[in-house]
Amino acid sequence: MMTISYEYEGGLYVNLTNRCDCNCVFCLRHNGHTGSIYADDLWLEHEPSRQEALDNLLSRDLPSYRELVFCGFGEPMFRTDDILWLVDQLKAKVPKLPPVRINTNGHANLILGRDVTPGLQGRIDKLSVSLNAPDPERYLTVTHPRAGVQAWHAMLDFVLKAKEYVPTVVLTIVDKDLSPQDMDRCRQIARDLGVTLRIREYIPN
Ligand code: SF4
Repeated sequence: MMTISYEYEGGLYVNLTNRCDCNCVFCLRHNGHTGSIYADDLWLEHEPSRQEALDNLLSRDLPSYRELVFCGFGEPMFRTDDILWLVDQLKAKVPKLPPVRINTNGHANLILGRDVTPGLQGRIDKLSVSLNAPDPERYLTVTHPRAGVQAWHAMLDFVLKAKEYVPTVVLTIVDKDLSPQDMDRCRQIARDLGVTLRIREYIPN
């Protein structure tokens, strides 16, 4: 059994990869978790091909969902080209496709070595980018990105570029271990980038 898509709070979530360039301290991929509060079996026995993912999604009543969300037990934008292909296929085949969101660490341009943001235009309605920390030092401590501090700058640059092509770009952060001053710094980062900050409540698992 493996879960390519699952329902959560009226949305349909899509799990295309378990790869990630980070190693976040809070990541559910640690500690023997095989799923999350959202779904079981999120460890993929193999990465679904484009076609497998498309067949899976087309077997769902897509217009009945509030939102289609590429997230996953891993960083979905490792498969940016496949996501964009899937969205094109779905838009062509499904009347009234719900809005499409990607939950990402914002490292796509760094990982893939090119600016992928123009391709998001007309396909992706919303990006939720994990800010994770109020400054680069804390970011490294929390997310352990493979590329080191470059990843922090790449994430901010990605947000700046993506907002030219995606109608809604939101930075998200979990409120755990953040002082009011930290929150202010996060708000300032979002303001400087011209995007919204969404502070999420910590959910222990
Ligand atoms: S970016 Fe997401 S998938 Fe990657 S290690 Fe962090 S929490 Fe896990």
